[in-house]
Amino acid sequence: MSTQKPIETTQMTQIPPEFMNRFSEIVRDILILSQELAFELSTIECQNAHTCEVCKKAREIIIKVKELIKLSKQIQKG
Ligand SMILES: [Zn+2]
Repeated sequence: MSTQKPIETTQMTQIPPEFMNRFSEIVRDILILSQELAFELSTIECQNAHTCEVCKKAREIIIKVKELIKLSKQIQKG
């Protein structure tokens, strides 16, 4: 079996499948953790939930993850 790539397929870099698998695994873990974080954030008894830096950053992460989910749904639809 030859490992040489055809010259015509140079427009896209070949991503190794093991990298893609690991990448999707990590993304999945981040999504699960973000959901757990969202639950914690909505039930937290932080005295300064609106000014607390940890709560603010947690919210920012959840907002970005929501954007990521929205975007991936758009891509899947085509
Ligand atoms: Zn807090």
